Amino acid sequence: MTIPFHVKDSIYEIRSDLATALVAAKEDGRRVVGTLCSYSPVELALAAGAIPVSLCGTTQEGIAKAEETLPVDLCPKVKSTYGRAVSGACPIFPLADCIIAEATCDGRKKMYELLAREKPLLVMDLPQKSEDPDALPHWVAEVEKSRRFIEQQLKVTITEDALRDAIRKWNQVRRLRRDLHYRRNALPTPIMGVDFVNIMTKLENFVDVDAHIAALTRFRDELDRAIGEKTAACGDDRPRVLWTGLGASLGCNKVMELVESCGAVVVCQEGCGGLTRVEDLVDEDEAKDPILAIAERYLRVTCACMTPNTQRFTDLQRLIGEFEVDGVLDLTWQFCARAKVGFLLSSRQSG
Ligand code: SF4
Ligand code: SF4
Repeated sequence: MTIPFHVKDSIYEIRSDLATALVAAKEDGRRVVGTLCSYSPVELALAAGAIPVSLCGTTQEGIAKAEETLPVDLCPKVKSTYGRAVSGACPIFPLADCIIAEATCDGRKKMYELLAREKPLLVMDLPQKSEDPDALPHWVAEVEKSRRFIEQQLKVTITEDALRDAIRKWNQVRRLRRDLHYRRNALPTPIMGVDFVNIMTKLENFVDVDAHIAALTRFRDELDRAIGEKTAACGDDRPRVLWTGLGASLGCNKVMELVESCGAVVVCQEGCGGLTRVEDLVDEDEAKDPILAIAERYLRVTCACMTPNTQRFTDLQRLIGEFEVDGVLDLTWQFCARAKVGFLLSSRQSG
């Protein structure tokens, strides 16, 4: 099967297809764990034999419904996630058996209190100063708490062996996704940013992780073929852009569409949906407690909700050099101050 470089499916078709596949999987006895953020340890769901699905809102419908309950000036991500869930606009939400959430921003935390009325939901208490020595022990306890929550909700036992298998499997996914992101650095540019985002959104809506790995591998092979044949997605005179701040996925990619329709090309994404969320692996050392290994890795997620953001700036400086970009685009949304790193980055460069 060939994965087309230009996915024409809408986000609604993709989510609807996923819902159909999830219904069939549930009829076969599979269970579904909803996640909402890059701090959700996917490995816990996989080790439970469950299907991890993202419930993060990425489309506008549902926002009006959310505004009946939530403050109108909350960020659209919070309103979309909640509104899609309670309005019935999200075909995935009803299929989740339980949800793992994290205390990141205030908007999310307060919305989760309402969402918990709809589904069993655990909010992991995320330390906000990840570099402090006491952050890791606290986060290890939270990951362990999440393991027990999933065990209780799904009536399963998550064994150490299953955790180690899940770590290896999800690292395989991460390596493939990292490879794909780095293929965007080839010259001539083999794929536009919006096409990359659309394809990744489609591939990331999966039921079977092995099928997901196979699809990622096929996409990598296609990109390699395009690179080998020097197939250009655009002229090499386009300004190369590094994307940071909030992520972009199909359904909330209008800014990326605008940027590329104005003549630039997004060659690298940092942060959620980008390279820095997949290049960091969980330690596979058999001698290490797998819960500790998972906790260490997820605490290294470089979300701007942490303070300070030392590693994030190091990553940004590295990627600016590696991808030889002409500019950095820092996307932020109404109400959200935490994604704004641009002013700090420019003050560092001028300082
Ligand atoms: S930007 Fe931060 S809060 Fe938002 S999904 Fe990513 S890690 Fe979570
Ligand atoms: S975009 Fe900002 S305000 Fe909205 S959920 Fe993410 S971190 Fe919170």
